[in-house]
Amino acid sequence: MKRRQFIQSTLALGATATLGTIAGCGGRGSEPQAPLPFNPGQPLPWTNWAGNQACVPQWRYAPANEDELISALKVAQGVIRPVGAGHSFSAVTTTDDSMISTDLLTGLVSHDPVTLQATVRAGTRLNALGPLLAPVNQALPNMPDMDYPSLGGALANAVHGTGVDFQSMSAYVTGLKLATVGGDLVTCSAEKNPDIFQAALTHVGALGVVSEYTLQNQAPFELTEVNGIAKVEDVFDNMEQLCRENRHFECYLVPYSTLCSTVTTNIRQPGDVAVGEDDPDGANTLRGVFEATTWIPGIGSDLYDFVLSQAFSGTTDMVRTGPSHVVFGHPRLMRFREMEYTVPAELGVTCAREILATIKSKGLGLSFPIEFRYVKADDIWLSMFEGQDGCTISIHQYGDLDYKAPFAEIEKIFWKYGGRPHWGKIHTMTAAALAQIYPRHWQDFHEVRRALDPTGKLMNSHLRSIFEA
Ligand SMILES: Cc1cc2nc3c(=O)[nH]c(=O)nc-3n(C[C@H](O)[C@H](O)[C@H](O)COP(=O)(O)OP(=O)(O)OC[C@H]3O[C@@H](n4cnc5c(N)ncnc54)[C@H](O)[C@@H]3O)c2cc1C
Repeated sequence: MKRRQFIQSTLALGATATLGTIAGCGGRGSEPQAPLPFNPGQPLPWTNWAGNQACVPQWRYAPANEDELISALKVAQGVIRPVGAGHSFSAVTTTDDSMISTDLLTGLVSHDPVTLQATVRAGTRLNALGPLLAPVNQALPNMPDMDYPSLGGALANAVHGTGVDFQSMSAYVTGLKLATVGGDLVTCSAEKNPDIFQAALTHVGALGVVSEYTLQNQAPFELTEVNGIAKVEDVFDNMEQLCRENRHFECYLVPYSTLCSTVTTNIRQPGDVAVGEDDPDGANTLRGVFEATTWIPGIGSDLYDFVLSQAFSGTTDMVRTGPSHVVFGHPRLMRFREMEYTVPAELGVTCAREILATIKSKGLGLSFPIEFRYVKADDIWLSMFEGQDGCTISIHQYGDLDYKAPFAEIEKIFWKYGGRPHWGKIHTMTAAALAQIYPRHWQDFHEVRRALDPTGKLMNSHLRSIFEA
């Protein structure tokens, strides 16, 4: 029996035999309400993927080449914000003035078969990149766990996957072209305009609009991903070994339970075959079990843990195998909201234990699994991994449930561990505090930013709050 069927049948059993009628306890939709209505005759509202950020841009531009991009930047009025795929949870793209979409700036510009570098237009979606690079014998060394973002949006925010030997995607950039609000097109690399290059490797869309990036890739490779279930304390106790022995390791901690799901990804071996399939609705199923087993006052979460343990015992691992760009990405069809902080790698397990204990002791209602990953240090000025190996811990909430109050409780824990927020995810840190956690290059970045955008045309209220003390 597949794992999902098993959970569902266990839920059904629990519902009828143990708990009596539980109608109404599960199965709620997780779609957020549209934050802004569309009024005919008025400009079209813009909404991010998660449905928690919205705006009504008066002017929208979708340049198809660098000339059109420069022209758009020259005529754009008010606050200008570039937008990729709208997959950030934070208000990094919103403006009621001028929005510049990179949707038409796509495709492979050139590639070098010797250095394995490729130049790609910044609006190219990550899910288009694999199929573009494969025919020229290249592949990205690592990717995030879903592939909907644009390259420009991902690199603006130091987007990352997992793996102690892999840095964020921004660290694999060797050159880029930046269109500024002044109407210049600046070519940058470690040798040419090095300060702008350094700042632009993770820039939260605050320097201009990047038209193309040159990426350091590697030869194509195939991967096998194995998804299992384990006791969370066993995983915590063996974390170093799991990270060292696998090309990529991550786990999803299941709050209110003693379990986690593990994801190990390695180079495909002969004979590896797929088993089962990805379940994009898995977190909703888990929610159903959570709600069905924890609603009775006084029962606590022991029944939930028991039901999950029963459901998962004896199930087989789910295996995905194939070209790297296919295996790295997963469908993410269910809406949720997310806060992610990076804490120093060596504090990751302790921090996660405290988060799990706090969710349970305070009854925070965060039952969505918590993603736990490692990323290697880099030297990019505003990367969350600048100067330190990082452990990224991602807290999620279902799209129809309140996230602000529970996230606020967990955010205090992240601050205690010196956490740095993911620029594209929900957080409440502002400039003065952020300057403290980026002590080496905060000022360097802002000198470049002010030189390129002296009047703050790119500053919406969110960027002002995070960048202007
Ligand atoms: C379901 C889901 C799963 C996710 N998984 C991961 C994950 O595994 N790892 C991870 O690190 N993050 C993850 N994220 C976060 C997300 O990938 C990032 O926030 C990413 O930056 C979004 O890319 P985008 O193209 O949607 O950019 P947008 O959200 O549209 O924009 C992000 C920023 O980039 C700027 N920008 C975009 N294009 C350009 C350009 N060409 N030039 C200049 N500035 C530009 C925008 O102004 C904005 O500041 C996930 C998000 C979702 C919704």
